[in-house]
Amino acid sequence: MNVGILALQGAFAEHGAVLDRLGAAHFEIRQRRDLKRPMDALILPGGESTVMGKLLRELDLFDPLAEQIRKGLPVFGTCAGLILLAREVEGGDPCFGCMDISVRRNAYGRQLGSFYAREDFSGLGKVPMTFIRAPTIKSVGPGARALASVDGQIVAARQGRMLVTAFHPELNEDTSVHEYFLGMVRK
Ligand code: GLN
Repeated sequence: MNVGILALQGAFAEHGAVLDRLGAAHFEIRQRRDLKRPMDALILPGGESTVMGKLLRELDLFDPLAEQIRKGLPVFGTCAGLILLAREVEGGDPCFGCMDISVRRNAYGRQLGSFYAREDFSGLGKVPMTFIRAPTIKSVGPGARALASVDGQIVAARQGRMLVTAFHPELNEDTSVHEYFLGMVRK
């Protein structure tokens, strides 16, 4: 298995470190030629979704990645990566727009919006969750299913082989969410 990690901006290195701990091969996607490598799954990291969306287009990465996702490439979006996958972005434009969720960016405020929680994640028990200027999932459509909530707000969801979290699982010691994703890839 080889996991491509979008490495244009944001918290991509931390995802690589978690995959190293789990013994999963990975590589960084920085430019079009990186997509020549065989890829079994894709991680879209946290960062700034508007910047990543712009860079994806400028670097000619948007179309090939959108096509691979459409064809069923397993994808894991954290925080900004979640926003990139959402079909509807409140007050903004969708990027890949392939996942049946509606999101609100910076839902906890821009400056003081970082916090930590430990909540149930479907099938995994309590999981540590670090939120940094995080979005929330306002609603999940019929194709998608909520996997975790914090204070009544949905913070993780899955649709087929697409997984999203509003929090940053790569910033905690716990590797269970990444293991969950790798399990989806192996199936
Ligand atoms: N606030 C960022 C955005 O809207 C997401 C923050 C993050 O990825 N930690 O893109």
